[in-house]
Amino acid sequence: MRSQVVIIGGGPSGMLLGQLLHRKGIEAVVLERKTRDYVLGRIRAGILESGMVDLMREAGVADRLDRECFTHDGTLIAVDRDMFHVDFKALIGQSVTLYGQTEVTRDLYEAREATGAQTIFNVEDVTIHDADTDAPHVTFSVDGQARRIDCDYIAGCDGFHGVSRQTIPDSVRREYEKVYPFGWLGILSETPPVNEELIYASSERGFALCSMRNAALSRYYIQCSLSDSVEDWSDDAFWDELRRRIPEEAADSLVTGPSIEKSIAPLRSFVTEPMRWGRLFLCGDAAHIVPPTGAKGLNTAASDIHYLYEGLVQLYEAGDPEGIDRYSERALARVWKAERFSWWMTTLLHRFPDMSEFDLRMQRADIDFLRENRDAQKVMATNYVGLPY
Ligand SMILES: Cc1cc2nc3c(=O)[nH]c(=O)nc-3n(C[C@H](O)[C@H](O)[C@H](O)COP(=O)(O)OP(=O)(O)OC[C@H]3O[C@@H](n4cnc5c(N)ncnc54)[C@H](O)[C@@H]3O)c2cc1C
Repeated sequence: MRSQVVIIGGGPSGMLLGQLLHRKGIEAVVLERKTRDYVLGRIRAGILESGMVDLMREAGVADRLDRECFTHDGTLIAVDRDMFHVDFKALIGQSVTLYGQTEVTRDLYEAREATGAQTIFNVEDVTIHDADTDAPHVTFSVDGQARRIDCDYIAGCDGFHGVSRQTIPDSVRREYEKVYPFGWLGILSETPPVNEELIYASSERGFALCSMRNAALSRYYIQCSLSDSVEDWSDDAFWDELRRRIPEEAADSLVTGPSIEKSIAPLRSFVTEPMRWGRLFLCGDAAHIVPPTGAKGLNTAASDIHYLYEGLVQLYEAGDPEGIDRYSERALARVWKAERFSWWMTTLLHRFPDMSEFDLRMQRADIDFLRENRDAQKVMATNYVGLPY
C-alpha cells in the first residue's frame, strides 16, 4: 500500500493534520494503536487558543465548536483566600475558547469518517523504516496480519509514549526535561461550575484549579503527592480539600456531586530537539510535554500541526521544501515559549515540597506583582491566549 503521508497516532494532532491535508487533496493514512471508543473516551484539555480554533475552522470541523463553545475573557487568580481577575479582553483585546478536547477529537473523527479517509485502529508493532532516506515506509500489524505502507513523509503524532520519537537516533536527539515533585488529582462531575471563568488557586495546602467543560459539567483539580493513588481520595475527601484551597465565597457556592471520572496526572516539562529527522516529523506530545497549568499542551500540538501542514502544502502545491525544511526551527521557537509560560505558571502557583521561607516570599512577591501591575498582567494575558503562529 502507498500513501503520500502516514500519520502515526489518532489523537488530536494526528486527526487535525489528516483533516487539513485531506482538504488540500493530500492523501494521509492514520494509524492508531487503540480503538476509536478508547480515544474518544479520554478526558483531557479544555481551553483552546484562537490559533487552534482557526485551524479547526480551516479543517472544516468547527460548526459544533462555534455553536457550543464558551468564550472566556479572563481568568481568576486566588491566593490563600483572596482573588483577583486578569481580564484578557480589557488588557489585550483577546479571549480564549472553552471546548473540551474530547469534543475536538469527536468532531475530527466524524469529519474524517465522512470523507472516507482511512484510519486503521488497533495497530500493533508500528515501526518506521528508512526515515532518513527518500523512500521511507512504515510496517505494523493489525488483526495478526503484517502490513506495510510506503510513503513520502511520516508525521509522528503518537504522543509521549509513542514510537516516533524513539526512531530518531540517540546521536541526533537531544532531550530536555523537568519532572515536578507533585501531580494533579482531577475529577469530572456533572455539576454546574463554581464560577464562569477558571479559578487558579494557590494556597498553603497546595494548588487547586476550578475548571469546566460546559454549564453542567465541571472539572476540578488539586495538587497531590506523587505517592497518592486515586483510591486514596474519596469524592468527599476531594471536595473537602478543594474547599480548603479556594476563596471562601467560591467554597461556599461550590456544588458537589459524584465524580464521573477521577485520575492523577504527573506533571512534566519536556522537549525533544530536533522535531524533524529526514522524512519523519514529530508533532504534539510526541515532541514536547507541558504541565497543564496554563493549558498549553493541546494548543502547542495545534501550532506544530499548523507549521507542518503549511510546509507540506507548500511542497505538494508549489514544489517548495522551505516550509518542511524549517518545520523544526519554527515549531520549536514557539514550543519553548509555551514551555516557559507553563513552567512559570506552575512555579508561581504550586507548593514545592522543598520550598524555603525565602522561596515562599519570592513566590508571594511574584503573585503580588502580577496582581498590582497591568504590564505584568498583559504579559500573562498575551501568553495565556496564545502567541501568534
Ligand atoms: C490527564 C491529562 C490531562 C490533560 N489536560 C490538559 C489541559 O487541561 N490542557 C491542555 O492544554 N492539555 C492538557 N493535556 C495535554 C493534552 O491532552 C495533549 O497535549 C494532547 O492530547 C496532545 O495531543 P497529541 O495528539 O499530540 O497526543 P495524544 O493525545 O497523546 O495522542 C497520541 C495518539 O497516538 C496513539 N499512539 C501512541 N503510540 C502509538 C503507536 N505506537 N502507534 C499508533 N498510535 C499510537 C495514542 O493511542 C493516542 O491516541 C492533558 C493530558 C493528560 C494526559
